[in-house]
Amino acid sequence: MEFKEPPTELPTLSDLVTQLLLKDEPALIQALEKIPTGLYASLFNAAFTGAHINILRQIVKIWPFPCLHMGTLTIREPQQELLKAMIESFQVTPDQSSASWCSKLRILDLRQDAVLRITCPGNNDTSSVCFHSCIYYAQSAMCIPAQCRNENAESEDHSSMQSLQIILDLSLNGTLKGREFFSLLVRKVQQSLGTLHLCCRDLKIDKLSDCKGSLSFLDLKCVDYLSVEQASLTEVTKLLTQMANLDSINLSKIICRSLTGRTFKRFTTNLKRMTSLAELNLSSFTLTNHLDCLLRVLPPTLEFLSLVFCELSNNDFRFLSQCPQTNNLKLLNVSNNPLYWEDCGPFQHLLEKNSGTLQHLEMDHCLMTDSTVSVLIPALSQCSQLRLLSFACNPISMNVLMRILQHLTPLMELSHVIYPIPVHCYRRWHLQGSIDQQMFDDIEARLKSMLEAAKRSDMNWITYSD
Ligand SMILES: [Zn+2]
Ligand SMILES: [Zn+2]
Repeated sequence: MEFKEPPTELPTLSDLVTQLLLKDEPALIQALEKIPTGLYASLFNAAFTGAHINILRQIVKIWPFPCLHMGTLTIREPQQELLKAMIESFQVTPDQSSASWCSKLRILDLRQDAVLRITCPGNNDTSSVCFHSCIYYAQSAMCIPAQCRNENAESEDHSSMQSLQIILDLSLNGTLKGREFFSLLVRKVQQSLGTLHLCCRDLKIDKLSDCKGSLSFLDLKCVDYLSVEQASLTEVTKLLTQMANLDSINLSKIICRSLTGRTFKRFTTNLKRMTSLAELNLSSFTLTNHLDCLLRVLPPTLEFLSLVFCELSNNDFRFLSQCPQTNNLKLLNVSNNPLYWEDCGPFQHLLEKNSGTLQHLEMDHCLMTDSTVSVLIPALSQCSQLRLLSFACNPISMNVLMRILQHLTPLMELSHVIYPIPVHCYRRWHLQGSIDQQMFDDIEARLKSMLEAAKRSDMNWITYSD
């Protein structure tokens, strides 16, 4: 008899039981405490996905494990109400009637993370440790923000409450919804008499000057990923002084009056403490002739480096090509910095030294001409790990575009290329709406047939014009 593989999407027994249980919401809420703990994860998953808000509240109230992670569940705008319900149901003080804790839940993790399971493996009693618990919590419990401190807390038995944490990624963007959500978190901390720790791992700040009140409720040591848009370098430096060891820094539209003054020096001194920094993204941050002051203090662990609109000079590119901080890059983005023919030797060397690691390279709007690209082609064709290459909006000819295609087709990892529209297609170079559509259609057809001839139809060559 022929053996047939079962379909991979076949629901498990616990999925089927969960679906049956959810059909009668009131009965399920009544019986929830009697349901085997093995069913809780799939029940939580189904209750969140199906927006069963009342069941969700009840599940959080009597969650039988020390931690609850959102993990792979998708959180979009409509699910915000579900998150709020979960926060409200998170027990942060002993039950009023029995002076005890109904819930075993100590760590509510609201981050979306593809590698997190709903509860940590082996977590079947309160003494188990959550692998994602905050490593700074012991210190932050000692310095509860003044706004949350309650004198009565002194008499509470802290031993039973010490591991209460809400782990989350925060975007402080000044919107009404964002402010309401943050107010709910603050109320929860106050209700807990300061024993609940808000543990923000990924912090995005849009317009720093508007968020200072909210920041006073956070312990910034917990932040791993920091993103700030629109701020002065003085404000950013002040933030960095409160942070411990960032993995990623993303700064955009930062005002820095002088690259030789005390503020810039203090900024780099604080960067120097980030000994495990792997990602640095700077955008609209003018660094002409001073990139070395900034990169020199960083560890040689950088994997992602983006320097868009940084007005980099030839000296800056020379430093990039020589410094140990750029020896193992997986991502490099130098878009919107001019790369002239006579300057491109250092950039060529930068590509060569990263040819074994580079997966993602962007150099859009770099004023690269045929001569520049011709020099870079041998280095590019050595980048064996390259998956995405973007060099859109550079003034090159059709001949050079075809040459580059011929040299890139042997790169078997390379699947996405964003190419520049050759100059002859423009009635006036780089003027919006001045592209000759017929000429452009011919180019697309030509590239397509060249990819077919090279047996690389799997490569996706696209373009855009601004
Ligand atoms: Zn856990
Ligand atoms: Zn923390």
